[in-house]
Amino acid sequence: MATAFSAEPTDPEVREEIVSLVRQFTDEQVIPQAEHYDATDTWPEPIVEGLKELGLFGVTLPEEYGGLGLDLQTYARIAEELARGWISIPGIINTHFIGAYLLMKFGTEEQKQKYLPQMATGELRAAFSLSEPHCGSDVQAIKTAATKLDDGRYEINGQKLWVTNGLMSGLVFVLVVTDPTASPKYKGMTCFICEKEPGVEVNTGDYAGFEVPPKIKKMGYKGVESTELVFNGYKLSADQILGGEAGLNNGFKQMMDSLEVGRVNVAARGVGVAQRAFELAIRYAQERETFGKPIAQHQLVQEKLADMYTRVEGARLLTYRAAELKDKGERSDTEAAMAKLAASEAGHKNAEESLRIHGGFGFSKEYEIERIYRDAPLLLIGEGTSDIQRMGIAKGLLKRFAI
Ligand SMILES: Cc1cc2nc3c(=O)[nH]c(=O)nc-3n(C[C@H](O)[C@H](O)[C@H](O)COP(=O)(O)OP(=O)(O)OC[C@H]3O[C@@H](n4cnc5c(N)ncnc54)[C@H](O)[C@@H]3O)c2cc1C
Repeated sequence: MATAFSAEPTDPEVREEIVSLVRQFTDEQVIPQAEHYDATDTWPEPIVEGLKELGLFGVTLPEEYGGLGLDLQTYARIAEELARGWISIPGIINTHFIGAYLLMKFGTEEQKQKYLPQMATGELRAAFSLSEPHCGSDVQAIKTAATKLDDGRYEINGQKLWVTNGLMSGLVFVLVVTDPTASPKYKGMTCFICEKEPGVEVNTGDYAGFEVPPKIKKMGYKGVESTELVFNGYKLSADQILGGEAGLNNGFKQMMDSLEVGRVNVAARGVGVAQRAFELAIRYAQERETFGKPIAQHQLVQEKLADMYTRVEGARLLTYRAAELKDKGERSDTEAAMAKLAASEAGHKNAEESLRIHGGFGFSKEYEIERIYRDAPLLLIGEGTSDIQRMGIAKGLLKRFAI
């Protein structure tokens, strides 16, 4: 089976070079524009164009498909830098990256040739859809189903929820029930590669029966849209099953595998958010004075700063470690879950502590920390909640340390 990442580890010098380019892009293009796109909750087109120019839609794709051929550790560092600017930006890349991973690992050669070159440039962008209105953590409870028609095609009916990039994507990797009698249920689920028109709410022609209702209004994580998807008699060929015939009823395992790398992305975003919240806090603490000295000189503020940076570094090491294991082809589900848990909680906690250090100004939209405080909770939920990570970690540990 093909590996989803470059066979060779990325040269550390090349990694540092691209990470420093992304850091510069974040400082110059993302941080100054985030406030505007957050306030208007609009698609950050100029930033997306910049991501395309840097080749960031194809970071891990092999060069033969037009990608940069870099490893997961490099991808994690890139996601961290972008999240330091605004978590919505790596959100635009993450579901696309999961889709590329699915194609590389499970797709047929025909599917790879058809989609990956356009995905590597960002011309075609991907979304990933498991959750439904009645279930998120309990993926085996999904109801959206595909039935086989007499002409060999499939018809999908049902409703999905919380699809990041649901409107702007041209491809959605969708998990559906294909054998409702299967026991356990996950053995009757298939991943379909659903094509649609990017930016169109009511699809017609070949994509008729695929609707994207208006985007959900959210407290944070704005700019990148989260939508429902409604399938009402949407028809597609059996060639659109991920991996062809071999993929029939194997979708659950494929998608769970891809969540492992998705979790590294969310962990990296947690590190970026935690880092930025810390940077803003330590600067403000040296500027603001109370009782005749900078607040950074008060021990209780110092305690917060010390704990904040310790959280950043701990989360960072766990995240890089999970990425490194995956790059080496070693099992990393427990490590990815630990990284996701620690880093998302670090991002959330540091956002709160930084807001406290900013005092009343933290509550003002004039200050960046106000947005970060609204954005950070998403990390606790997406790609599995903290509770779900803890359950996975405990399961892994009980196997590893079984007596
Ligand atoms: C902004 C945003 C973007 C998203 N993007 C996507 C996307 O692109 N694609 C996609 O498929 N999904 C996406 N999601 C959905 C996300 O993955 C789910 O919201 C998440 O998995 C939780 O599912 P739920 O919301 O149904 O909560 P539920 O599963 O209903 O959980 C509710 C609460 O119960 C807890 N809980 C559930 N089961 C247990 C248990 N066994 N033990 C202990 N506690 C438990 C949970 O931790 C949580 O606190 C997105 C969500 C958001 C908010």
